Amino acid sequence: MAKMREKSIDIATQEVLNKAQQENIKTVWDRLELQRPQCGFGQLGLCCTVCSMGPCRIDPFGEGPQLGVCGANADTIAVIMSIRILCIELLT
Ligand code: SF4
Repeated sequence: MAKMREKSIDIATQEVLNKAQQENIKTVWDRLELQRPQCGFGQLGLCCTVCSMGPCRIDPFGEGPQLGVCGANADTIAVIMSIRILCIELLT
């Protein structure tokens, strides 16, 4: 139950997740586990997939690439990807 509380503090949601688990129905949590470890560049917003020249990624430690192929820096990529995600969220 402790692990279930990490997924949701809502009792009704916990019941649904337990029921899904009992009936072997996969949920977002199961799919998340299959994606681990997730891409660190993506989690930092430093991976850009906007155009066919990419994907480009920026090294957050300053040792690797600091610009995408088009010249976008970390700030530009983070903003572009954030706006892109926001637009997708608003449309779905
Ligand atoms: S950083 Fe520039 S070149 Fe790379 S994928 Fe994004 S838009 Fe394309």
